[in-house]
Amino acid sequence: MDKFKLRYVCENCGKIGFYHNEEEAFQDGWDYPPKMGTYQVIGPRTCGNCPITSTLFWALNTGQVKSFDDMSLKQRVTLIRILGEPGTILGNEY
Ligand SMILES: [Zn+2]
Repeated sequence: MDKFKLRYVCENCGKIGFYHNEEEAFQDGWDYPPKMGTYQVIGPRTCGNCPITSTLFWALNTGQVKSFDDMSLKQRVTLIRILGEPGTILGNEY
């Protein structure tokens, strides 16, 4: 059993999913690069249950958030995780 997996985190609800590959995660409903968007570029990072309107991407594009200072802690964590991709989504299942 391969213990090394992709570790996806929903930026809205905090759900964590472990997958063998991007296709498996996409089929499970995740919006995540490289299937949706591009690594290190701000876009939705959500599970299948959460809408695009809950994302940092949405907040930035609608002007709800204009700078790092405006961001909630959840949004800051999301930003830092996105900027660190793909290293931040590689991991062991634990
Ligand atoms: Zn979610």
